Amino acid sequence: MQTISKASSAISFFRCSKKLGTQTCVAPCVRQLNLRKGLVCRVMKMVSSPLRTLRGAGKSIRVSKFCSVSSISSLQIELVPCLEDNYAYILHDEDTGTVGVVDPSEAEPVIDFLNRSGRNLTYILNTHHHYDHTGGNLELKDRYGAKVIGSAVDKDRIPGIDIALKDGDKWMFAGHEVHVMDTPGHTKGHISLYFPGSRAIFTGDTLFSLSCGKLFEGTPKQMLASLQKITSLPDDTSIYCGHEYTLSNSKFALSMEPNNEVLQSYAAHVAELRSKKLPTIPTTLKMEKACNPFLRSSNTDIRRALGISESADEAEALGIIREAKDNFKA
Ligand SMILES: [Zn+2]
Repeated sequence: MQTISKASSAISFFRCSKKLGTQTCVAPCVRQLNLRKGLVCRVMKMVSSPLRTLRGAGKSIRVSKFCSVSSISSLQIELVPCLEDNYAYILHDEDTGTVGVVDPSEAEPVIDFLNRSGRNLTYILNTHHHYDHTGGNLELKDRYGAKVIGSAVDKDRIPGIDIALKDGDKWMFAGHEVHVMDTPGHTKGHISLYFPGSRAIFTGDTLFSLSCGKLFEGTPKQMLASLQKITSLPDDTSIYCGHEYTLSNSKFALSMEPNNEVLQSYAAHVAELRSKKLPTIPTTLKMEKACNPFLRSSNTDIRRALGISESADEAEALGIIREAKDNFKA
């Protein structure tokens, strides 16, 4: 876990540095400019491009070549492994010091992280009500007085909810606009939280890297519509999902599309990361569109592999792919 935390800090640092190295210099619309950032910007310009390795905490840490580095706001996103394969995400606005956590399945790793970084907690954001996404809500709320934010559809199932949001709502996190998108299929009240200023979306158990969530409370048609909402976002959007399932998902994806070269390359990279116990998240929408079978239900290789007829519509095809995934033994 320590290794992952270090790596994720490095990724976050890289996101921040890259922002300072590029966007702040060229984009007058950046929210806040100040002398410190201007100085860092000039320094980063000198040392960047292409930057694959960072020096942090006295050691070099390799940054995933698939990792998104397109942050254009002062929002830091840091990954906290929880339970067996869950991720909670710490959101930190550098300008105001405001901190949020997305989907704390348990309180302890989040408290440890906040203690280590000397931070408080203002908000708890939930994508859906399942225990492995909300299990830490009440303890964290009690300890920090944080407000719990979740879907209005599931306000009776989200522990400690204070602010119930609806599809299309725009909520503000320390000056960062958050677009609330209903993305049902896995559960009725599942939402995804899109931060357009950071080109980042938290998809919970709707969209994973190389898969989608199980259909516990929804239909293939609902899941397809939810995934289509997400795929309508810019290709360089970073996807922060609820679980580290990518390696086993890659085996399923390759079983249907063994000749997809982008998938081959991504799967090899994922295997390498996991062999070092490093996270594969965030992924990008561009990568998912090229490799994720649930976003490719029209693909002929996938349809042939699963015996899906050419006349089947995308929702029907998605349902068959989901069923095959449920029964797939990696
Ligand atoms: Zn779930």
